Amino acid sequence: MLDSIVIGGGPAGMSAAIYLIRKKMNILLISPDFGGQAAKSSEVENYLGFETISGPELMQKFSSHIEKLGVQTKQGEEVKSIAKTETGFMVKTAEGEYETKTVLIASGKMPRRLNVPGEEDFFGKGISYCAICDGPLFHDKVVAIIGGGNSALDAALEIEKYAAKVVLVNLEKDFIGDEIRKDRVKESKKIETIFEATTTEFFGEQFLKGLKYKDKDGQIKEVACDGAFVEVGWTPATGFAKDLVELNPLAEIKIDLENKTNVSGIFAAGDVTDIKEKQIIIAAGEGAKAALNAWQYIVLKK
Ligand SMILES: Cc1cc2nc3c(=O)[nH]c(=O)nc-3n(C[C@H](O)[C@H](O)[C@H](O)COP(=O)(O)OP(=O)(O)OC[C@H]3O[C@@H](n4cnc5c(N)ncnc54)[C@H](O)[C@@H]3O)c2cc1C
Repeated sequence: MLDSIVIGGGPAGMSAAIYLIRKKMNILLISPDFGGQAAKSSEVENYLGFETISGPELMQKFSSHIEKLGVQTKQGEEVKSIAKTETGFMVKTAEGEYETKTVLIASGKMPRRLNVPGEEDFFGKGISYCAICDGPLFHDKVVAIIGGGNSALDAALEIEKYAAKVVLVNLEKDFIGDEIRKDRVKESKKIETIFEATTTEFFGEQFLKGLKYKDKDGQIKEVACDGAFVEVGWTPATGFAKDLVELNPLAEIKIDLENKTNVSGIFAAGDVTDIKEKQIIIAAGEGAKAALNAWQYIVLKK
């Protein structure tokens, strides 16, 4: 039986894994990817020790650190459920079942979907949720970005490096992001914005050809585009744990000061929890804290 399973390969999960392995715990880190949201940040300027570093580069450093320490991982697997057993917990993915004494949930947040017709059909065929990963695919193309917050503004500023034109399709009357980002977007000659527009559908044939939106007068209009990035926020990845651990109304896992959930033996850290601040350095710190508390729990139970 494992001492601990860490769910999630973002900053919180990778930091937790480092602390647990250095305590000589028998652990497994399960995650579809290594990097999480942080890998989607084009520039990180607030992580101690790095004045400026791209999100993917910083996350590469994190993952090579856990690799060097010999953390056992199941990359590409996604946890579907956690069940309580007599001696601990059974964690299930589509590929396997793993028994463990403790669970450390660090599953962060996942991109929110619009849930409109065509979104599923054209995912990977023009529609993406990661500007920094897929932006270079749209060299000299027309790209729509749906959203008006920091993620959407970041995506627009990233994509304009490659695309011929960027069309921001924003539900609100104005952007809701940081002033610096708003100014950069407004100054850009390549970025056009349609305000008060509700995206209603994506269309195309084999690949995406455009989207439809409802304008403020209720008229349906179209934007022809080769790519579309849905940047409408993030939602806590707690679906697999919602019947076991207590969540707040935002679907975040409730934790105490020692990263304990309401279930003895299950700890949580980072953006998936109800801590207020969501940042890389905070998630990494919370991961470390949760790991040390999980370790103490395991040692005391022996
Ligand atoms: C565009 C953007 C820019 C940002 N810029 C900055 C910045 O400049 N500075 C800063 O400090 N912060 C920034 N942030 C915030 C920062 O990225 C997050 O606070 C941080 O990544 C949270 O780390 P985490 O490990 O808690 O969660 P996440 O980074 O969300 O990682 C969660 C991990 O869990 C995995 N996972 C999800 N569900 C499951 C499951 N069922 N089973 C297994 N694994 C699962 C995910 O695939 C992912 O690997 C930015 C965020 C975004 C989106």
